[in-house]
Amino acid sequence: MITLALALSRYPDIDVDIYESARALTEVGAGIGIFPRPWRIIKMLGIEADLLKVTETKVVDGPVSSFRYRKSDQREGVDIFTLVTQGSLMLFHRADYQQTVLQHLPKRCRAHCSKRLRSYTQHRSGPIELLFEDGTMAQCDVLIGADGVKSTVRAGIVREKAQRAQAEGRRKEASEVLTQVDPVWSGTNAYRALIPVEKLRAVAPNHQVLTTPGVQYLGKNGYILAYRISGGKFVNFVTFVSRHHLENTQFNGPWMSVVDPSTFASFFAHWEPEVQALFACVERPMQWAIHTVRPMRSFMSGRVAIIGDAAHSMTPHQGSGAGTAIEDAYILATALGHPSINRNNVQRALGVYDTIRCPISHKVMEASRRNGRYFTFELGGVDLDRMPPQKQRDYLQRLASNVKRSWEWAWNTSVDSSVQEALRMLNERT
Ligand SMILES: Cc1cc2nc3c(=O)[nH]c(=O)nc-3n(C[C@H](O)[C@H](O)[C@H](O)COP(=O)(O)OP(=O)(O)OC[C@H]3O[C@@H](n4cnc5c(N)ncnc54)[C@H](O)[C@@H]3O)c2cc1C
Repeated sequence: MITLALALSRYPDIDVDIYESARALTEVGAGIGIFPRPWRIIKMLGIEADLLKVTETKVVDGPVSSFRYRKSDQREGVDIFTLVTQGSLMLFHRADYQQTVLQHLPKRCRAHCSKRLRSYTQHRSGPIELLFEDGTMAQCDVLIGADGVKSTVRAGIVREKAQRAQAEGRRKEASEVLTQVDPVWSGTNAYRALIPVEKLRAVAPNHQVLTTPGVQYLGKNGYILAYRISGGKFVNFVTFVSRHHLENTQFNGPWMSVVDPSTFASFFAHWEPEVQALFACVERPMQWAIHTVRPMRSFMSGRVAIIGDAAHSMTPHQGSGAGTAIEDAYILATALGHPSINRNNVQRALGVYDTIRCPISHKVMEASRRNGRYFTFELGGVDLDRMPPQKQRDYLQRLASNVKRSWEWAWNTSVDSSVQEALRMLNERT
């Protein structure tokens, strides 16, 4: 949301009002990784230098060793491979990222906190009316929902589409579209915590996480991700427990809650000592039931659009949800800020955004889903632990190639081509 505001603030004729339901603009969660594609946008927005002050990661343009992958669901873990990215995967504390963006946000972008949107109404012409939970109202020419996985704006868009389909006799489409209102559970829960680096050092002085950019410990139905953030002060710890057969069902219970480490530690009791050392340092982890949005054919309706998790909440196994939101924000701002766009034809700008971003984000969603299966050895009935050692090694190498292939888009493609495509489409219509 604030990245979109920053990207829009470069266009002096666009007024930006941010409505946030929380009492302040704050971030829940811990670490976040940003790949070279969205990092290019960070540079274009002029916030790279300040972000570099709050991370240990150095910007490298060529090949960089990032995460190390191990098979860890056994007494002695084994290395599988090291992911080499073209350009660094930049690692941050979310709060540091957010504070840096906020420092760059000009005062004319007005933030209104404690404003939870209840609904909006748009007519063919005239302003869009916003109604908040506190009973107050506001108006705008364009409404962009960056309101996360439970998005109110997505619900509005979906209902408008369903009404149109119903009115035109496309009943099946109308009921299909309505399934996109509510998010679905991915079958996976994440447990997140911050571990003080000194605490881990005291427990396991030679732990790999203290010296490598990051490690992923993989095994059947679960994995653990650990990397240092906040200038090396903390280890960002996330563990995932997956029940893939429950994908697309409803999760019974709170989506986010503080739990006892025993909730997941018993599942990993037979895993290698490095994993146990991390668990020994975890206090008060947060459980996140990972939810996704069923793929939408379009992220807009009239003068209303959605970006980020509101549009395409995905599993976190590609570390790309926030990066995709940053790309959405930049492309949308580029389209809205184009000289040919004004209050009367904003729909054209939203159309360009939609045409470019919808297919790309669905590819990322699908790649992320695939990674989630590779990382938890959900391999179509193949049981690694019943294989003879050499066969298992060969299989894991093939798995490594698949992971690399599924991820390469994040550094082998550039967001520049999407920006060029957006400009070409907008110029064509001028
Ligand atoms: C365990 C885990 C690890 C992850 N790791 C990474 C990673 O390494 N890299 C990466 O790129 N992504 C990662 N992600 C994904 C990333 O966190 C999300 O994709 C990203 O935060 C989405 O940003 P957003 O702004 O779209 O939504 P959100 O961050 O959910 O923000 C939505 C905002 O809208 C506000 N809001 C909600 N409803 C309303 C309303 N009705 N009215 C007004 N305001 C409202 C909320 O308070 C919030 O401030 C991870 C996710 C998880 C769960």
